[in-house]
This record gives sequence, C-alpha cells and structure tokens, in this order.
Amino acid sequence: MKRFLRRLVEADTTAGKGELAAAEIISAELSQSGIDSTIDSWDSNRANLIARIKSAGHRRPLLFACHLDVVEPGHEGWESPPFEAVEREGRIYGRGSADMKGGIAAIVTAVRQLVDSGVKLAGDIILVAAAGEETDSCGAKRFIRDFGGKLPKLAGVILPEPTEFEVVTAHRGMLWLRVTTKGKAAHGSTPQLGINAIGSMKTVLAELENYKIDVEPHKLLGGCSMSINTISGGREINVVPDECSIGIDIRTLPGQNHQDIIDDFEKIFARLKGERQEFKAAVSVVREVAALQTDNNCDFVRDFCSVVGAGGTRAVGFTTDGPHFAPLGAPVVIFGPGESDVCHKPNEYIVFADVEKAVEYYKNIILKFLT
Ligand SMILES: [Zn+2]
Repeated sequence: MKRFLRRLVEADTTAGKGELAAAEIISAELSQSGIDSTIDSWDSNRANLIARIKSAGHRRPLLFACHLDVVEPGHEGWESPPFEAVEREGRIYGRGSADMKGGIAAIVTAVRQLVDSGVKLAGDIILVAAAGEETDSCGAKRFIRDFGGKLPKLAGVILPEPTEFEVVTAHRGMLWLRVTTKGKAAHGSTPQLGINAIGSMKTVLAELENYKIDVEPHKLLGGCSMSINTISGGREINVVPDECSIGIDIRTLPGQNHQDIIDDFEKIFARLKGERQEFKAAVSVVREVAALQTDNNCDFVRDFCSVVGAGGTRAVGFTTDGPHFAPLGAPVVIFGPGESDVCHKPNEYIVFADVEKAVEYYKNIILKFLT
C-alpha cells in the first residue's frame, strides 16, 4: 500500500494537470484484485474513477466518495519537493498526502483486501474518486448528473477526507462573490469628467461594513462569516478607473439560502443607485458549495459511530463534496486518516500507520453495513 500511496502523491493532480494519471494508478491497483473500474475522462486530462463491487445480496450499497485533485503546493516552505512523496519518521510528505490521497489509498486497499479474502457481501460497494473538488466540484457534479438517477437507495455516503478518525457530519457552506463597480475613464488631471469606480467601491465597502447576514448561529458550526479578501481596480496612475472589483468569501450555515444574500446585495446597490444615478455595481457568484448537515440520530450515523468507536460526531471548518452527494437521500459522513491542519500548507504529510489504521476501519465499516 505504501508504494500505491506514494505513486498517488507523485501524480501531480493540481488544477492545470488534471486527474487522469491518478485515476489510472487507482484503476491498475484495483485490477490487481480483479476489480473493474471505469475512468470517465473529459477535456483531455480531467477524470473521475468509478468502481462498483457487485454483490449477490439486497442490502443497500455503501458509496465511498473521494477526490483526486489537490491544491497548488506554492513555492515556499517545502523541505522536500511536494510531488516526491518523501518518507521521514513514519510520515509520507507531499501535496495531497493527507487531503486526500491517504484516504484513497486506505479505502482502495480495504476494498481489495475484502475482495481478495472472498468474503460474501450482501450489498454493493461503490467507489468514486472525483475531479475538481478543490476548484468547482466538477467531478462530483458530473457523477451525480450522469449516474445519480441510476443508483439504488444507498445505506450511506462516506468521504474518506482527513478528520483524524473523528466522525464529521456537518460543515458550513461556501459562497464566493465578486462585486464589480463600473465607472467612466477620464484623464487623471480631469477627474470631474469621469466616474471613479474605486470611489463607487468605497461606498460599497462602507455599506458592507455595516451589513450583517441575518441568520441564527448553529450549535455546532457557530455563525455565518463574511470576509472581503481581494480587491483590484484601476490601470494607470493618471487614468480615472472605470472598473473595480472585490472578492468576498462567505461561509454559510445549513438551511441558509445563498440567493437571499445575493438579493440583499442587489437591494443595497439599487438603493445606492437611487441616491446617486451614476453609481453602477453588480454581484456575481464565483463559486458556491452548500452546507452539510447529516442527522446525527439516524441509524446509519449511530451504527457508524459504534463501529469506529466514536463517542459522537463533530463539525469542521472546511468544506467538502459531501453536499453534492446529499441529494442521493442517504446520510453523508466524513471520516478518514490525517490531520486537516496540515492540508493546503507546505510540508503536508500523513502518518503512514494512520493509513493502515484507516484500512481496518473501512473494512469494519463495510462488514458492518454489508454483511
Ligand atoms: Zn479534501
């Protein structure tokens, strides 16, 4: 398994590189146990891997949903090259080792070991390793679009993301907005002939300073948050800018309607336009992911906690593809090896013994629900 994990980490699956190489590594690994898989590929290097281990039984299948892509490593701070999967003191270092190639190695190995053992399962295992979770969830959306309607009712969906073996059933959603103000360019020496888009943005920023998203805090997830994290505008120091834009990162709670926030923004802009005719601003969605909230008291979550020996469930700060699988109507749980603290940073690593432990957990989970 270590060789398999290292090969997965060495396959650079950042946004520009695509996921095809990693999908092929997994497909080859599965085939060593005689497990067929399908690589659904598009745009020359994008790929989802899908495998279904058929059983003769009638229990509801388990779906394991992974993602193949990783975030950019950045240039600073790495002690060993991010795509070399160097092993030091029991840890495998590299971009994606924790998020989430360690989890992929563990679930693929668990499935292989069960198939190799000849155990008779009473329900199917469905394994999906999707593209683009870190950018636009294109892989998960594509899988649900093409196969979601054909799937039988599932027992549950498990995301082998790094949770340090805690059972995670909730996370906030994400709404990334871009607000652009438009003006009219003029020579910098005659600003009265133009409309300064940065000036209009100053008005927007002042309004947003006082804007509160109207939602009650969640008992596990806390409040909804909003942070303006990028700004750009203007071209030359002697030209009145005709455009300025900001990027806003909003983290939302379960049940919250993203459109309500967009409507609020549009109302604010309409009011500002009423006060000053030349004011022009528009809001657009850069990316959105729904929040996740699985019922902690359902049988699946309770049984899941008892198999893995967890006293309860918890919420996390990061988002996942989980909400894309929620429409399948089965409980969604996030559970896997690795620390979320090391993800998306230099010197990301996973403790190899934790990957081995994860194999045992996943086998026990499969045996619990499918035998
Ligand atoms: Zn992840």
